Amino acid sequence: VKAAHGNGLCFFDPRMQTAISQRVQLETDLQTALVLQQFKLHYQPQYTLAGTIVGAEALLRWQHPERGLVTPGEFIAVAEESDLIVAMGDWVLRSACEQLVAWGREANLCHLRLSINVSARQFRRPDFAQQVIAMLQQTGAPAHLLKLELTESLMLDNVDDTIAKMHQLRTKGVRFSVDDFGTGYSSLAYLTRLPLHQIKIDQSFVRNLGVRPTDDVIVQTIIGMARNLELEVIAEGVETEAQKKFLALHGCDLYQGYLLGRPMPVADLEVQPPLWPSP
Ligand code: C2E
Ligand code: CA
Ligand code: CA
Ligand code: CA
Repeated sequence: VKAAHGNGLCFFDPRMQTAISQRVQLETDLQTALVLQQFKLHYQPQYTLAGTIVGAEALLRWQHPERGLVTPGEFIAVAEESDLIVAMGDWVLRSACEQLVAWGREANLCHLRLSINVSARQFRRPDFAQQVIAMLQQTGAPAHLLKLELTESLMLDNVDDTIAKMHQLRTKGVRFSVDDFGTGYSSLAYLTRLPLHQIKIDQSFVRNLGVRPTDDVIVQTIIGMARNLELEVIAEGVETEAQKKFLALHGCDLYQGYLLGRPMPVADLEVQPPLWPSP
């Protein structure tokens, strides 16, 4: 093994050894976390411009006994390199379906849509669509309130497989959103080939609205394109009134971000008041 630094050959780099054992430790801890049920979902609300809450995105959290609440940035990448992400994804799917069933019993919550994030390794399993359908049946969750967020790169990695799976699920009523839209380098032609319902403007563009003129143009273009394709468009990472105003001016349908609500435990989401008075 040639060391990354220096020009000698070396067979043992203590720093690399540390990194590897930390990572093995993290994998073990994640497995334990699944067994001990240390994962939970936080919910970030999604609003119309008029201030009606229409749904939420479920975001994974790890309630760690010593480290407290850990966000996905610290563990998702490692989980995604093994089948751990599949087990975690199954847990997320089941929890989301159970949440939808619980909301279905409350008059003021029964209309809420729930988005979940799906990783590539999970989506590419041959039986992914069947698993989702089975989970909907087992739990009794209404399919039309479940939305799967797939990134652009995931969808394009194997378009034929993507289309087949999406159609299977779309037939049952499940909806799809393109997560992190605009961050890929792909042609937009595929958009018309996929049974999509929503595109989600990536927060990296929203962040620079009014700061970087090229991002103003990109966001304007994405919204215009979504409207022409009759897709719903949602902006994530909305942090300021100015960003919200810009998005509203150009016709963005839905809004998600710290300005409107952080990811929160379900009990808090359930008592979220409408944000803005209806016009
Ligand atoms: P994402 O799907 O792009 O989710 C949006 C992230 O932006 C979330 O971070 C959310 O807390 C954060 N966010 C929301 N509003 C704002 C805002 O106004 N400003 C800023 N700066 N950030 C905002 P989080 O919860 O740490 O999740 C990070 C990523 O981890 C997610 O990015 C998603 O890719 C992944 N992830 C989260 N939950 C799951 C899951 O259940 N399964 C899988 N496969 N991935 C997940
Ligand atoms: Ca997402
Ligand atoms: Ca995103
Ligand atoms: Ca992201």
